Amino acid sequence: MNSTSISPLRWHLKKLARRLMILSSPFLRGLGHDRQSQIRVLTYHRFGYQPRDPFCVTPKDFEAQMAWLARHKRAVSLEQIERFLRGEIDLPSGSVLVTIDDGYQSVYDFALPILKKYKIPAVVFVTVSAIDHHEDAEPHLTWNQVRELASHVTVASHGWTHRSLGKISVEEMQVEVMRSRKMLEQKLGTPVTAFAYPFGTLADFSATTATVLQNSQYQYAFTSQHGAITERESPLNRFYLPRIKVEGGEGMWMFRLLVGGGLDHWRLIDQTLWKFQQSPDRPAV
Ligand SMILES: [Zn+2]
Repeated sequence: MNSTSISPLRWHLKKLARRLMILSSPFLRGLGHDRQSQIRVLTYHRFGYQPRDPFCVTPKDFEAQMAWLARHKRAVSLEQIERFLRGEIDLPSGSVLVTIDDGYQSVYDFALPILKKYKIPAVVFVTVSAIDHHEDAEPHLTWNQVRELASHVTVASHGWTHRSLGKISVEEMQVEVMRSRKMLEQKLGTPVTAFAYPFGTLADFSATTATVLQNSQYQYAFTSQHGAITERESPLNRFYLPRIKVEGGEGMWMFRLLVGGGLDHWRLIDQTLWKFQQSPDRPAV
C-alpha cells in the first residue's frame, strides 16, 4: 500500500455518498428541465490493484466497463465531440468519451490493450514534463509508450508540471500550456487541441485560464466538474467542459447508472465543497 490509498473511513464515506447520489438521481433528474442530447466524458487515472485508492480502477473492472460501452455502441472519439460542438454532426444521447489523466505507466500496461481489444476511442491527458521520469510510486509513461499510445488514442495536454493553473501567474500558465503543447506536437507530429486542467476543481480554472488556453491555440479544455455536455457549447464554454470521475471499487451497476447521468448532480458537491476537495492530503492527480 502506498500513499495513494485513503483511510477506510474516508473510503466508505465517499462510496456511501456516491451510492446515495446515484440512487437518488431519478428524483434529482425530475428537477431538471433539459431533454437535450446528453454526452458524458468519463475520467480515469490509474489501473491496477491498489486497495482503497479511488483513483485506481482494476483492469478487470475497466475491461467490463469498456466491453459494456462497446456492446452498447456508446463510445465516441474526441474528434466526434469536437465536430458535435462545432455543430457539424449529431451524436446519440448517451454517447461517452473515455479520458485518462496524468500519463502513468498503467495506462500503457493495462488500459491500452483493453481499449484496442474493444476499439474504444479515448483521450490520454499527459503531464508532459513527467514523461520518462520514474520518481513517483507509479512510474510515468516513456516517450516510446506515448508514441505507441498516440497511434491508437488521442494524446493531449495535462500541463507541463501538473500545477493548478488557478494558483499561478499568467506567465507561468503560458509556460504550462504552451510548452506542453509544443513538446507533444514536436514528438508526435500531430496538432494538440485539448487540455485537461490539473485537479479541475473550481479553484483550478477561471476566465483567465480559459483565455490563456484560447490564445495558446487550444480549442477545448476539460474540468473535473461533474455533468453532461448538453448542447452546442458557446466558444468560451468549450474551455469548461464537464467530466465524470470513474472510481475504483465500484460495480457495473454503478457504472451503468453513472454513464446514464446518475452522478451528474455531483456537480452540486463540486460547487459547494471545492475547498474541501483542495485538502492538502489529496493525492496529486
Ligand atoms: Zn491530474
